[in-house]
Amino acid sequence: MTTQTAGPVGAGAGHPTSIHQEQHMSLTPNPSSPFATATPDVRHILPSTLGNPRPGALVLTDCDRLAVVPTEPLTDAHSLDPLPDGLCPDCIAAMQGVSRNTEQPSSECRECAAVTRHDGLCVLCRMDAHDEWWAQQQADPSA
Ligand SMILES: [Zn+2]
Ligand SMILES: [Zn+2]
Repeated sequence: MTTQTAGPVGAGAGHPTSIHQEQHMSLTPNPSSPFATATPDVRHILPSTLGNPRPGALVLTDCDRLAVVPTEPLTDAHSLDPLPDGLCPDCIAAMQGVSRNTEQPSSECRECAAVTRHDGLCVLCRMDAHDEWWAQQQADPSA
């Protein structure tokens, strides 16, 4: 028999820093990877066509660069209004159908010689290399 009381947990003293205003969602940037090409300090929007990508996978973002899928539940930015803080402006522009000229110069992939706009290593080779790197990180974070 448990005799636990189910009383409310005391919220304690008021927080002087809490300002009474509308909570604006703020996002943390995507996890970093040496093979990501997206801007590292903002959260990128993943195309809704991706469905439910695996956290930790390297995927193409709305701004046509590569970022790591965050491990926390994905927010479908396409349905948010207003948009949360911390989003990639290029992704927002792409989502809204505005051209921001994010075209990168193309070059040849150093692994498979495919033409790529991802700095000398194509999307598929980056995904492969990232998966290997990511698995190593999970197995031994100090490596
Ligand atoms: Zn972006
Ligand atoms: Zn390649």
